[in-house]
Amino acid sequence: MPAEIATVAWPHGPAVALPRTVVPFHRETVASYIDRLAHANYLDPTRLRRYLTDTGTGCHPQADWLAIISAHPVHLLRARLIGLTERDHDLGRQRHHARPACRFCMARRGVTEPVYCWFPDHLTVCHHHSRWIGPGNRSVDDQRDLRGAPAVLTAARGHARLHRSHGDAAEVTLTEASRILRWWTATPSHTLSTATTCADTYIRAYPDLIDLASILAEGSRKILNTPAATLARHRAIDWVYTRVATRFPDYRTRRQPLEQWIGDRRIVAASMCQSDGRPRPAFQTRLARQRIPSCYRK
Ligand SMILES: [Zn+2]
Repeated sequence: MPAEIATVAWPHGPAVALPRTVVPFHRETVASYIDRLAHANYLDPTRLRRYLTDTGTGCHPQADWLAIISAHPVHLLRARLIGLTERDHDLGRQRHHARPACRFCMARRGVTEPVYCWFPDHLTVCHHHSRWIGPGNRSVDDQRDLRGAPAVLTAARGHARLHRSHGDAAEVTLTEASRILRWWTATPSHTLSTATTCADTYIRAYPDLIDLASILAEGSRKILNTPAATLARHRAIDWVYTRVATRFPDYRTRRQPLEQWIGDRRIVAASMCQSDGRPRPAFQTRLARQRIPSCYRK
């Protein structure tokens, strides 16, 4: 066989765009986008996904091949879609984190199919249409109408504010707040879990959850930033008890979970200081600091 024939590579990957294309939305998962692209062209999504995967180099859709068949440039797909980078390749993870975007926002853009997006945790409501798009929102049918629930809309704004003020610590504090609420209301452990809860359950508890998390986040900052056994520390702890008792009078006598939480904060604060109250050297506090969200670190 002549050498020039032996080195010619067989055509690899798609060469032309599909007849119909769809627009990728910001934060949409690749899985969702390929599904919509397949449906628009009357193709089987699983087969299209396999077709876009170069099995010789990996097991995930290739961005440049997706760009060819969708007729959108690679940089646009990378900027808008979740799942084209190594971190987010996992299809199971994409589906676990994805929630359908507001059906009315999509309809306004002429899209009638669900568009699954990987939203940040604090984005729970479409304020344009007063629809729930938060935890428990697994299909567009779960997008409850919130026009008669102003407390939930206010809580959603409070959630965004919490995230702006406390960054990643906001979600940690929300987990702690949901644990305390479950204790108070004696509800099962899966209730208020962002992964397993149902939309109605989460919406009902949402205003309490955000209010309690906001108090805990601010209280945590006050406790961690005051020396132990000082008037300032006592005032910080009193501030937490007073705010919680005022906002949640029904649970005024059930202080055990709150006392535990304050005890944890004291331990964390102590692990960051020496006996004389001065901050420990960095190497001694490394492990403690790894447990503390960055916004609480001095
Ligand atoms: Zn909307």
